[in-house]
Amino acid sequence: MASVHELEFLKEKINELKEQGVYRRLPELQGPSGAVSVINGKEVVNLSSNNYLGFANHPRLKRAAIDAVEKYGAGAGAVRTIIGTMDIHNELERILAEFKREEAVIVFQSGLTCNSGTIPAVMEEGDLIISDELNHASIIDGCRLSKADTVRYKHSDMNDLERVLKENVHKYRNRMIITDGVFSMDGDIAKLPDIVGLAERYDCMTYIDDAHASGVLGQSGRGTVDHFGLHGRVDFTIGTLSKAIGVMGGYVAGRQVLVDWLKHRGRPFLFSTAQPPAVVGAIIEAVKMLMESTEYTERLWENAKYFKAKMKDLGFNTGKSETPITPVIIGEEAKAMKFSDKLFEEGVFAQGIAYPTVPKGTARVRTIVTAGHTKEQLDRAVEVFRKVGEEMKVI
Ligand SMILES: *Cc1c(COP(=O)(O)O)cnc(C)c1O
Repeated sequence: MASVHELEFLKEKINELKEQGVYRRLPELQGPSGAVSVINGKEVVNLSSNNYLGFANHPRLKRAAIDAVEKYGAGAGAVRTIIGTMDIHNELERILAEFKREEAVIVFQSGLTCNSGTIPAVMEEGDLIISDELNHASIIDGCRLSKADTVRYKHSDMNDLERVLKENVHKYRNRMIITDGVFSMDGDIAKLPDIVGLAERYDCMTYIDDAHASGVLGQSGRGTVDHFGLHGRVDFTIGTLSKAIGVMGGYVAGRQVLVDWLKHRGRPFLFSTAQPPAVVGAIIEAVKMLMESTEYTERLWENAKYFKAKMKDLGFNTGKSETPITPVIIGEEAKAMKFSDKLFEEGVFAQGIAYPTVPKGTARVRTIVTAGHTKEQLDRAVEVFRKVGEEMKVI
């Protein structure tokens, strides 16, 4: 018998992953995340980052991070509620509230902790959460951590949402509909005007996780609520600072009373240390850049439309994408992985994604075009897709 410390039970699980062909070695960046990156020793066009605006390695953000380190040091020293709140944390929350055109904002360490911290802080036993079946894992975590009942509705299916509402709302005290703003695997946008309309009819709160819409949709990236002109009609808006904003963190935007409550009951805010000064300084700079100019989001959308049109013209199945996330749907799991490997050999990095992240038979490579890509780089990527697509008889 092996000793318990050999962790045999984990070895067995790892072997199962290997047998199923889903054991992964992480690709490694040797340098910054950019439109072109060095990955596993090879310079390639990077179509897999969430660095939508090219901010992750932007000189203005780097400068702001260095300045913040010089002035405030490397760490915040405590959780926000003890003595980890610096003036720059408060400034960040003020500027984000202004940017989002909301009463108040509270910043967390990540988008994930926004969901896992906020949902259980506001929903409890006797309450109902109504959740799109494709919502992000961190929303599912947040729902589980709350003691509320959770009912799922079919993805973006408004008839099914209304059915769930009709059958359930009268049984519960507080009711909340939760949806992603932009769905990460297909790049489709939530039907927010319909969702808000149904929420108002059935007296429910609304909660939108705008991770892939922050810095992408709406005026200068103000998000899905701004995109649809629904200001004041969505109760909880979650944004991430880790994707388009290029750094790390998340925020909850909404009423002042919500922010006051989360400062007392949002567990990641109370029990995990405040973001370090470099992170906060760089984010403030990024938000200022978006408030000064729409040039970054304009370039992002121009590139996204350019790339998507070329891929469609070649005959690739790009699903129902409406955003810079463009899936290239291959179908069979092993084929999608092979497709991704061949792209890499030809100088393009686009991660293969298979079951269980997406339904069986819809395996894909997912591409995200950024504002940082040049037309020449996009043309090169399209040419590689054409070559591999023809070789593998995808087109
Ligand atoms: C990426 C993502 C998150 C997590 O955001 P982080 O800031 O990276 O923790 C949460 N929700 C959705 C929908 C996401 O796509």
